[in-house]
Amino acid sequence: MKDKFVWKTIGHQRQKNFLEKSIIKNAISQAYLIAGKEQLGKRALALDFIKLLQCGEADGQGDKSEKNIPCGRCRSCLTLEKKSHPDVLIIKPAQSESKGIKKEQAIGIKEIRKLQHQLGLYPYCSSYKIALILEAEKMTKEAANALLKTLEEPSGKAVIILTTQSENFILPTIVSRCQVLKLLSVSQKEIEEFLITQGVNQQEARKLSKLSNGKPELAFEFYKNPEKVERFFQVTKELQKLIQSDYNERYKYIEKISKNAAESKEILKIWLICFRDMAFEKLNCQNLKITPSYSRPSQIGRGGDDGDNYSIRKIFKIIRSIKETEKLILTTNVNARLALENLALEI
Ligand SMILES: [Zn+2]
Repeated sequence: MKDKFVWKTIGHQRQKNFLEKSIIKNAISQAYLIAGKEQLGKRALALDFIKLLQCGEADGQGDKSEKNIPCGRCRSCLTLEKKSHPDVLIIKPAQSESKGIKKEQAIGIKEIRKLQHQLGLYPYCSSYKIALILEAEKMTKEAANALLKTLEEPSGKAVIILTTQSENFILPTIVSRCQVLKLLSVSQKEIEEFLITQGVNQQEARKLSKLSNGKPELAFEFYKNPEKVERFFQVTKELQKLIQSDYNERYKYIEKISKNAAESKEILKIWLICFRDMAFEKLNCQNLKITPSYSRPSQIGRGGDDGDNYSIRKIFKIIRSIKETEKLILTTNVNARLALENLALEI
């Protein structure tokens, strides 16, 4: 049975087993919520599941017991690959740009109405009408309430899949109606093995899997875009400079990075890794580190620090603040620059 289902998703074996079982038993839930940090493979898992559900259906061969699925050749698989499957709707936040500031838009009521309309139709060529909402935490209150209504009136042939960074960002009444699949970090070994299958040499695969910090999508992104690896180390250098500079310099840096929401999010992620590494260093776990060492001059050190470096308490506090800032930027309309400035004063 193991080789019957073909998954592109890296890792997350437990979740894959669960979905395989529900397909075999034909016990598909009305709604799924795939929760986990960025680049763990939430979207990949959702798309794999959709492919498995739809494979063969458009050709009247929906029987999942006889062949390896998804086959990649049937009409369902091919239209899904082209993102033009008539029974699959994918909703994600639109990108906008004004005055050079890039931002992701919210998912509004209009999108959810479209979903309601789609799911209300009889499937065109398969057993299921499927709607996938990516980054569901970006739904407005109005949109979330409309989605809740849809979930309260289930239709036998509709499947709704949501992905989100954390189920805590989603209305609890929605979560309670979903089958929740939580994704955790993927092991370095699994990521390394995957990269090797993509033609990466062992040494590079080891380096990239370590750098990606349990995120297979990030490892692949690093592999495809070597300039992103350079950028990663450049940000670590900029951070070293930043923690040694005065407030004026810090404000200037924040002004520069806050213009691009996507970029500031990237930078926060790297900062998180840097401070986590500082904690590893303090705790004598150097082998877990992936970035260089950091220090700052003693004149900047404030209460609670030991000499010219950070105390472990301070590091944990900064890690909490970075996570808090990330969450603020992600889920609220807070002024990103202000939130980043507050953080820059703390480091
Ligand atoms: Zn197929």
